[in-house]
Amino acid sequence: MRGLTAQDILAVWEAGQDQHPVDRALTVLEHGFPDLTRERSARLPLGQRDRLLLELRAKVFGDVMTASARCPGCGEQLEIPIAVSAISGQRSAVSGRQSAVSRQPSAVSRQRSAFSLRSGKYAVRFRLPDSRDQAAAAVSPDPAAARRALLERCVISVRHGKQEVRPSRLPETTVSALAGRMEDLDPMAELAFDLTCPQCGNQWEEVLDPAGFFWAELAMEAQRLLSEVHTLAQAYGWREQDILALGARRRQHYLGLAGS
Ligand SMILES: [Zn+2]
Repeated sequence: MRGLTAQDILAVWEAGQDQHPVDRALTVLEHGFPDLTRERSARLPLGQRDRLLLELRAKVFGDVMTASARCPGCGEQLEIPIAVSAISGQRSAVSGRQSAVSRQPSAVSRQRSAFSLRSGKYAVRFRLPDSRDQAAAAVSPDPAAARRALLERCVISVRHGKQEVRPSRLPETTVSALAGRMEDLDPMAELAFDLTCPQCGNQWEEVLDPAGFFWAELAMEAQRLLSEVHTLAQAYGWREQDILALGARRRQHYLGLAGS
């Protein structure tokens, strides 16, 4: 990982504007991890992809992300500080759901591609959902259909006794068992947080979308950078590429001198 320069942030923001959120995540990784091809990123299990995004996010904006949530009981707006190091396994987890994270290897390389599950009389061979599956499932009409489409895409084969069965014929109990097994194998694929409202005591669960969160931050940062370029170009007549190459500290100093 090499982090993201000011130029990278503007390039990512510009390229990602018209992209689907799944493609945006890959565009961000492409700039932050030049050794990881887009094709390889697209095949990473979702939790591993998000772990890389979070590691990159920590390098660009620091360890703590401040997420927000609205209490479904009373409407209170909550700010939730989340340490990237805690959810990617270096410290204790924020809630019980993430405790499995620490057992997962951080490296991208050590991954098995196929797994098996026995559920009743069904023997299922499957792989973990990746960005290609997420993009394909996103066109489903509702969340339940999307979940089913995602899981079915990842089933390599199903046997019932000695008979080969189509993935669409799997009973709901086996589908649930499969979803549970996938969650155990790739726990960062869904980052769920148990929240308690300080106002009314209501308890609920929020799911964090690391890719969407990071994208929103990058978009804000890109707009901030553009406004710095605008101010300095007006004050000194410098070109965009020269202003961005200055580095944040020098830019801030010149902005001060320019009376911004
Ligand atoms: Zn509340």
